Amino acid sequence: MDISQYKIDNEPFYDAQSNEIELYEAAYDARLPVMVKGPTGCGKSRFVEHMAWKLGKPIITVSCNEDITASDLVGRYLLDANGTRWVDGPLTMAARYGAICYLDEIVEARQDTMVVIHALTDHRRELSLDKKGELIKAHPDFQLVISYNPGYQSLMKDLKQSTKQRFCALDFDYADAETEAHILQKEGGVDDATAKKLVQIGETARNLKGHGLDEGISTRLMVYAATLINKGITPVEACKMALVRPITDDADIRETLDNAIEMIF
Ligand code: ADP
Repeated sequence: MDISQYKIDNEPFYDAQSNEIELYEAAYDARLPVMVKGPTGCGKSRFVEHMAWKLGKPIITVSCNEDITASDLVGRYLLDANGTRWVDGPLTMAARYGAICYLDEIVEARQDTMVVIHALTDHRRELSLDKKGELIKAHPDFQLVISYNPGYQSLMKDLKQSTKQRFCALDFDYADAETEAHILQKEGGVDDATAKKLVQIGETARNLKGHGLDEGISTRLMVYAATLINKGITPVEACKMALVRPITDDADIRETLDNAIEMIF
């Protein structure tokens, strides 16, 4: 197994929101498990990729969903022509060979699945492969990082305190206007004036959160709008396509946002 294939060669562009880079470096130095919290598309995954690159460590990412089982993370026996063969799951690979394991949108996974991470996140730093009868002591470079969107939590879907209290946490939100405009220029290739107008539309939509919108427009969608504009689509069309249609089917909210777009551009 060549773990270096999980290393990131080129610097992922990342504009810091605050002092999160410094805080993460300290946490990694102590190999503390980290939780990155915030709304979808605000830069959590990009931040973790950037940190893996900066620290020169491989990163293995798992996008969690409700069908993920402990075996999907840990590994399983597979049947092939020569009989059965053990295959490490992503979590086991990261622990065995020394990578950052990033479990994205952890709340989506069933709670019982999460129990497998417990022994890896305390002083034991070990992972028990019950089916294989092997106990792995985590590699010194191993670190566990999870992302968590507090907006999604409900009584049924939330992390247990016993899981939450194994992580230190960094709060993320949409970047401030100036930073977000810079991100749109770098990622979407638009000029400063267009980027600022997009940010203005984003702010309008974010003010509607809780008044008909479950969540504001993400930086990710704003990058899409910028990209479409960069491809020659008119700003109004690009914004409708990337910023409004994906997030709501409510006719009134669509009209409000469409009007705002037409006024701003
Ligand atoms: P999350 O993991 O929070 O859902 P991502 O990290 O995937 O969101 O961010 C979505 C996109 O937004 C990224 O692909 C990137 O283009 C852009 N982005 C958001 N925040 C930043 C940032 N601080 N620096 C650079 N790009 C960012």
